[in-house]
Amino acid sequence: MSAEGSSTSVPIARLPRTSRTRAALTGTLVYVAIALVTLGLVLAAPLTAYSLNLFMQASTYAVAVLGLTVVLGYTGQINLAQAAFFGLGAYSVALGTTTLNLSFWLALPLGVAIAALAGAVLGLTSLRLGGHYLAMVTISFQMIVTLVLTNWIAVTHGPDGVPGIARPTFFGLSFADGTRYLGLCIAVLFAVGYLVWYLGRTRLGRAMQAVRDNELAAGVVGVDTYRTKVTAFTISALLGGLGGGLFAGGFTYISPDQFSFSESVVFLTMALLGGARSPFGTAFGTGLLILLPEWLRFLKLVYLAVYGGAVILIMVFMPAGIWGFVNAFWRKVRPVEPLTLGPVAPLSSPRRPARSDEKVILEVKALSKHFGGLKAVDGVDLTIRQNTVHALIGPNGSGKSTLLNVLSGIYRPTKGRINLEAHDVSRMKPYQRAACGLGRTFQNIRLFGAMSVLDNVLVGAERPGNVLEGGSAAYVRQALAALDFVGLAHRRHESVGSLSYGHQRQVEIARALAGNPRLLLLDEPGAGLNHLEKDALIALLKRLKGHGLTIFIIDHDMNLVGQVADHITVLNFGRRIADGRPGDVLRNPDVVAAYLGKVIDHEAS
Ligand code: ADP
Ligand code: MG
Repeated sequence: MSAEGSSTSVPIARLPRTSRTRAALTGTLVYVAIALVTLGLVLAAPLTAYSLNLFMQASTYAVAVLGLTVVLGYTGQINLAQAAFFGLGAYSVALGTTTLNLSFWLALPLGVAIAALAGAVLGLTSLRLGGHYLAMVTISFQMIVTLVLTNWIAVTHGPDGVPGIARPTFFGLSFADGTRYLGLCIAVLFAVGYLVWYLGRTRLGRAMQAVRDNELAAGVVGVDTYRTKVTAFTISALLGGLGGGLFAGGFTYISPDQFSFSESVVFLTMALLGGARSPFGTAFGTGLLILLPEWLRFLKLVYLAVYGGAVILIMVFMPAGIWGFVNAFWRKVRPVEPLTLGPVAPLSSPRRPARSDEKVILEVKALSKHFGGLKAVDGVDLTIRQNTVHALIGPNGSGKSTLLNVLSGIYRPTKGRINLEAHDVSRMKPYQRAACGLGRTFQNIRLFGAMSVLDNVLVGAERPGNVLEGGSAAYVRQALAALDFVGLAHRRHESVGSLSYGHQRQVEIARALAGNPRLLLLDEPGAGLNHLEKDALIALLKRLKGHGLTIFIIDHDMNLVGQVADHITVLNFGRRIADGRPGDVLRNPDVVAAYLGKVIDHEAS
């Protein structure tokens, strides 16, 4: 007997994956070719000492600015201390190779580790609190690092800086020559650029972008938002340290003023100017901001004004940076070919008729949620049985959404217990409840606005606890199956923001479905839909019901509830006033008075 109802994913017969794999392979080869040609040009070209320094600065800065792609571009967290991490890397290499007489190859990883560790500690202590807090903490950290570098003279040599930094040798190959060292920096830059680009396409990268686009929804979908942010911050600091370490070797002399707060602002400007969300954008922005002043130097005295003006104009007219602007333009002019998908296996779940003796999946006891003196949810008991559609109805403001938010962990209960199958989830974080198989949608749609339709649903498929065999391809298949279920597979590569409201609701449902939830919570999925969209929603709910999915649904629409519900619970002023089979509940005089009466009043007025 397979009464547990665990769903298995069925492989999809044919997927247009080969063309995408081939495109990715071609892209990688082109990238490697560009890297090799660049390296060849740098090594062959007779560079003046001046332009050598310029390129050295650009390439080492770009490595650090790529860190901002991870923390700001992917994860949406501000970091105003990148110059401090850059400085930690630079001083590790400087003092390591001079005072401590270490090899460059030892001092550099040491600097990277110190910067990463500082980043991790800073992230761990400050990322629990959101908003402006992180900006303040990073600025403070930046100030402290500058103070230490300047004033701890016995160790750092203070404002005089550190001269005579050694460049490395590698198995007899000396990098003492400036051109060769520049080649090393550029090779590292290309490698880091690729890794950062690749990160954006991994599960972790998608989790970061989900946090950026909607932190609340990311948690509910199963992303450990705190850990994701700390990881991003640590990677960012690590790349800051790497860039700084290379910088120190490049210039062989460093001083504290090179790693001040104003430099952190420059790093941030480079990322924003080029387009923080793409590694190509950040690298481009870095190069532009370093080379632009040189190109404009012929303007003599007015060059600073022109330079400043150009930067401001780009920022104002291209809020997503130059790369973001070009990308958006490309999307507009590119002919969109309709996407077809081979036969997709349906989302499979045991097909079983609902019975009243089904196993209990969610048990809520005396649950309360108070907001100050307001008892939004007041001592509610609730029992949801497996393979049933359980509706929660009640007038506006009766506490339905609050109850759902307590169930999914957005609010902590004031009192009471919530058991999901064997787990007491009352004190768990949203992502931990997602890991136990709780999925949900929101009354006000909460999608990951800048991600594609497919990536939105993929984040859902990748929830912890949804273990699929077959590696990452299996999660893509699962996401496509969920999209196909709601009828939107052909729009998978579009930005989710370009879809209509009704379609966005369906994507949100698909995102929850893709995670194979044990229990799906839907908060007013019919809100804001027109008649046609509502009919489609009812058909979708009936199909879900047919698949035996356990659903807890909030809705106002009696027609909708009447068509799908096996069981109804009614709330009024945060209290449960009725609970039972639809026929009985809807005839209950209290319900008619409290709820149905009001709706009729409402519609009459
Ligand atoms: P429903 O979904 O049934 O329309 P809600 O659960 O959204 O109702 O709201 C129930 C009550 O709790 C309302 O009076 C609402 O104003 C209040 N409420 C909801 N969320 C909050 C909050 N975060 N802070 C304070 N009061 C809230
Ligand atoms: Mg509500």
